Amino acid sequence: MNYSATDPSCAQPMTDSHSCPICGSGAVYHFMDIQQAPVYCNVLWDTREAAIAAPRGDIALGYCPACGHVYNYAFDSSLMDYSQEYENSLHFSERFQQYANDLATRLIERYDLRGRNIIEIGCGKGDFLRQICRLGSNRGIGFDKSFVPDPVRDALDPNVRFVVDFFGAAYAHEPADLIVCRHVLEHIERPRAFIEDLLRVIGDRQPVVYFEVPNALWTLRDLGIWDIIYEHCSYFSPASLVHLFETAGFETLDVREEFGGQFLAIEARPASDGVSLSAQARLDFDRMMRDVTAFGDNYRAKVAHWRARLGDLASQRRRAVVWGAGSKGVTFLNVFRDQGAIEYVVDINPRKQGKYVAGSGQRVVEPAFLRSYEPDVVIVMNAIYIDEIRRMLAALGVAAAVESV
Ligand SMILES: [Zn+2]
Repeated sequence: MNYSATDPSCAQPMTDSHSCPICGSGAVYHFMDIQQAPVYCNVLWDTREAAIAAPRGDIALGYCPACGHVYNYAFDSSLMDYSQEYENSLHFSERFQQYANDLATRLIERYDLRGRNIIEIGCGKGDFLRQICRLGSNRGIGFDKSFVPDPVRDALDPNVRFVVDFFGAAYAHEPADLIVCRHVLEHIERPRAFIEDLLRVIGDRQPVVYFEVPNALWTLRDLGIWDIIYEHCSYFSPASLVHLFETAGFETLDVREEFGGQFLAIEARPASDGVSLSAQARLDFDRMMRDVTAFGDNYRAKVAHWRARLGDLASQRRRAVVWGAGSKGVTFLNVFRDQGAIEYVVDINPRKQGKYVAGSGQRVVEPAFLRSYEPDVVIVMNAIYIDEIRRMLAALGVAAAVESV
């Protein structure tokens, strides 16, 4: 991948097809280019050759100062095809499971979700839906085109069923007290049409909707630079998320940062009377502009730091592995693929083990592999998991230094 940052000193007029997907503004600051990124970070490949030949696309990030949204205006949906190969479950991590459990409990308490009907759009393997249905004795329907039935597991949750389809008008008759949609909206090229369609499908029902996305403020502010991936067309700020829901006809109940600030969540319901933008739709505008302006330099500095660090490790013949074959790990490995300093990436998700990383071609191994490989350094892709990873390494007897990106 090649990287360049553009001086965002002036807003550039966009053609209609590139205008802001949230508010429609054509005056957008172009601030970052990433050429030839692998289009899927969460599809791993069966052979190294196939992984290295994985399809690629260009990222051109724009910032819309009218609504606080960041998006890839070079996104080409024809390159994408979400299938059953898609694997992005984080539920193998204790830290993530604890978060999901706390979230389910909080939603049950706040909205009195006991014996109710819950719909999840883009439910993946159904982990969260099963959990919130168990904890609140709720009935659930999960929708996901990539869902793979698992008869043994599915039999454990008789009140939960899964539909291998997109949620839409065909399911307008299904009762819903809560509609959940986590880590989907950022993948959708036209989020406005998606939310407007959702409101139409909801019709006369009055469910609470809960949407969760990566937090653009965290990406910009805390330099979550490895989170910029082709699969994400949109990077929502609290302002742009509220803007989208409120102008589509929802009333915001809450917008909050979750998971150490890495995620952004909105709780909303269909607005009963006229739609007006709340003050939350103008949060952090000045700060975002500063962060966008600084992002290119910060990005280059961080890449330079890690390029030097990997070069040092290689020249000292010290072995390093990456821990985490999710979006961050795949992006990190692709940025430095020309250095060839890293042979393996560790992941606790058994569905990823034995596969190969798109673009850069490393094999994904299980943690126990490190006993024989004896790495000197483990590079952790997400600092929020660092304690959990240290415990696993200690249990394995692996005495590597642990660094986080
Ligand atoms: Zn906008």
